[in-house]
Amino acid sequence: MVLDKAHVLAWHENWIVHSATWETQVPSIIMLKDYMKPKAAVRFSKGNVFLRDLYKCQYCNISLTKKDCTLDHVHPISLGGKSVWDNSVTACGPCNARKSNSTKTKPRIKPYKPSYYELVNKRKTLPFQVRDPAWLEFLQ
Ligand SMILES: [Zn+2]
Repeated sequence: MVLDKAHVLAWHENWIVHSATWETQVPSIIMLKDYMKPKAAVRFSKGNVFLRDLYKCQYCNISLTKKDCTLDHVHPISLGGKSVWDNSVTACGPCNARKSNSTKTKPRIKPYKPSYYELVNKRKTLPFQVRDPAWLEFLQ
């Protein structure tokens, strides 16, 4: 906005930010003047692994809430396993503890790196909360 790269379509009414020299209402909805190509590469993160696995334990298949998900390293870190897509699955706490440093227990899926679009589509199947109801109009 400051660099004049976006049109502001709506503002938050009661949210103002200040700097030393100016203040502004915070935009609620902006439209970029240049189309930004979505990145096709997906970042490895716990949250993205949980999303790939749709918040299901990959050992007992139980559905978890985000805060109950743990990241399990199929090949344990203690044995040289890495925090990468193809070594990480979602696990519930009990399965993660039970598996511990075993390499015999195999997850239901062979872990893989998902595409950007797979994650976007999976995200769409989940219920979500938005901070500003005005956003809903743009999230179809
Ligand atoms: Zn489990």
